[in-house]
Amino acid sequence: MFQRASRIRQRLSLALESQELSPAPLPAIIAASKQQPATAIESAIKAGIEDFGENRVAEAGEKWPGIKSRHPQVRLHLIGPLQSNKVREALSIFDTIHTLDRPKLAQALADHYSNGARALPCYIQVNTGEEPQKSGVPPRDCDAFIAWCRDTLHLPVIGLMCIPPQHDHPAPHFAFLRDIARRNGLAGLSMGMSDDFEIAARLGATHVRIGRALFGDRAL
Ligand SMILES: *Cc1c(COP(=O)(O)O)cnc(C)c1O
Repeated sequence: MFQRASRIRQRLSLALESQELSPAPLPAIIAASKQQPATAIESAIKAGIEDFGENRVAEAGEKWPGIKSRHPQVRLHLIGPLQSNKVREALSIFDTIHTLDRPKLAQALADHYSNGARALPCYIQVNTGEEPQKSGVPPRDCDAFIAWCRDTLHLPVIGLMCIPPQHDHPAPHFAFLRDIARRNGLAGLSMGMSDDFEIAARLGATHVRIGRALFGDRAL
């Protein structure tokens, strides 16, 4: 685990060094720990990882309260779809939401916050490839959705997230996401996974979400 974590950090710094730009800060590594047992998560924490991503509210609810009580510095990110009826539970487990992907969810979050729930920073997920089976706001709706979330619902939107189509080159999707973020004044970019995190880093990712390169292959 130590070796894998330091290898990822090394690859990230090499990716950024090879750019002409003044070296940007390394993106934060979010360890995508779906299907990983608490023991694997504990080793990642020992290797210095402080951010973790889980895809399912129920799985996170089982695994994380114990880990968090032992490691209060660790931050937990929701990186999978959130159903409106799971919002309350999600708000009690996670620190950040990366998958705000539709008006109904935005409204549900706003309702909970106006009823006193702790407001979590969130990323809006953009369906950059306009894939029908994938979550995310369609690119043409992005600017209006961002404005509505921030200005009308007062959600703490801090960035954008995407998962490029499996068979496309990811670079144009990352660049596209970065451009939408820039023109909307959003600093956070949650993009890049095990197979493409260096490309994402070069295109300005502030958070890369890494599963297999850190934990090894998942069981299917
Ligand atoms: C599983 C997952 C990742 C990590 O994927 P790897 O290919 O294992 O690095 C990143 N983001 C999301 C949303 C995921 O579900």
